[in-house]
Amino acid sequence: MSDRVTITSVRAILTQPAGSRLVVVRIDTSDAGLYGLGCATFTQRHLAVQTAIEEYLAPLLTGRPVENIDDLWHTCWVHSYWRNGPVLNNAISGVDMALWDILGKRAGLPVYQLLGGKCREGADVYRHADGGSPEEVEENVWRFLSEGYRHIRVQMGGYGGRAGELPKPDGAPAGNYYDPGAYARSVPILFAHLRQKIGFDVELLHDVHERLRPNDAVRLAKELEPYNLFFLEDPLSPEDLEWFQNLRQQCCTPIAMGELFNNPREWMPLVSGRLIDYLRMHISQMGGLTPARKVAAYAELHGVRTAWHGPGDVSPVGHACNLHLDLACHNFGVQEWPGFPDPLREVFPGCPEVRGGYMYANDQPGFGIDLDEELAAKYPCRNDIDHWTQTRWPDGTAVKP
Ligand code: MG
Repeated sequence: MSDRVTITSVRAILTQPAGSRLVVVRIDTSDAGLYGLGCATFTQRHLAVQTAIEEYLAPLLTGRPVENIDDLWHTCWVHSYWRNGPVLNNAISGVDMALWDILGKRAGLPVYQLLGGKCREGADVYRHADGGSPEEVEENVWRFLSEGYRHIRVQMGGYGGRAGELPKPDGAPAGNYYDPGAYARSVPILFAHLRQKIGFDVELLHDVHERLRPNDAVRLAKELEPYNLFFLEDPLSPEDLEWFQNLRQQCCTPIAMGELFNNPREWMPLVSGRLIDYLRMHISQMGGLTPARKVAAYAELHGVRTAWHGPGDVSPVGHACNLHLDLACHNFGVQEWPGFPDPLREVFPGCPEVRGGYMYANDQPGFGIDLDEELAAKYPCRNDIDHWTQTRWPDGTAVKP
């Protein structure tokens, strides 16, 4: 190759067209008009990620060739010496995905082709049905079923259930309160209702969101066994990984885990020990497509499937990256998808489409998605202090959200 294409700028673009603050990296190149986009969304610490990208990665990368993505990933990963944290992983992910997007555009191929091509034409997605009572949740499940979805995650009163009026001690601080005992008792009641009314022909999922003490989580997984869940999500915290062995020995409810993982040391023992059934890392949080595709291959060899994290605090660029992996990985399980509100679709032309419960890629080169910067600027990020992560038990103890 005579004229090497080099990186001319690395920028963080912050926007909030829907509920979550989004961070997207745009890399421009010496080839006029050739650029790539990557997701770096850490919605609770978006300004820290912006600083990591613009003050540290941009000066490190500007002038370097755009190829040799794996080398650039490792260069960024070790450059700070201190590594595997969420801020720096997200910053690296933005760069990494943008480089894959550029590679696809140069090759004239969608990224899933660069990963080996399609194992399937569409990715099965799951939707999230909530409600204040089993009847309300049931109503929402029927609505999703009528729209063609086959996988539905069911929650009652959000994560941790509905708190209502809790007897707090005098002087308890404000916060997002819940009662773990009341929550744990409500879930089997919800599933008994849904299986009785809807039957067993729909795949139901549930997210514990690390809201229970480990032993209570094991008991819940056992109690849910008769209801044949597709999977039980995050029953334990990353801090309690040793409990997975105990959980696995006691019941066969399928387990999904990983949206909080940053470090290979967190996912490796779960996969090699066959202690979980689905890996569901937040791909930007683990450092981007480069580490994610390696983990997917590692998981395939151990009979573990993928269910990448796909909530509203993944940008549409990140959702497109999830989808390209879903299409190309044989061991794909299911894809979380929150729906794209209209303002989000307008800011990100080329969003993946969902029809009949399947998500489809648009087959354009790279990730096939763009970002209208002028429109994005009309939705500046609101730098409020988040409320929902100020989580507390009834006596006021601050706990994991
Ligand atoms: Mg979750």
